Amino acid sequence: MAVPKKKTSKSRRDMRRSHHALGRTNIVECAHCGELKRPHHVCEQCGYYDGRDVVGTVSAA
Ligand SMILES: [Zn+2]
Repeated sequence: MAVPKKKTSKSRRDMRRSHHALGRTNIVECAHCGELKRPHHVCEQCGYYDGRDVVGTVSAA
């Protein structure tokens, strides 16, 4: 197993973590109902994605 030669100081550890903060979550309007939703996710309000109802609809083959 690879083992670090020197202990990482609190300063270096914290400097490394200065990049770990989460960015702002992106939000877009649902094209179907206008609710705010996350991009590339099914709308939680109307269940639509890509212009069609993908929740609660049994699509026949
Ligand atoms: Zn919607």
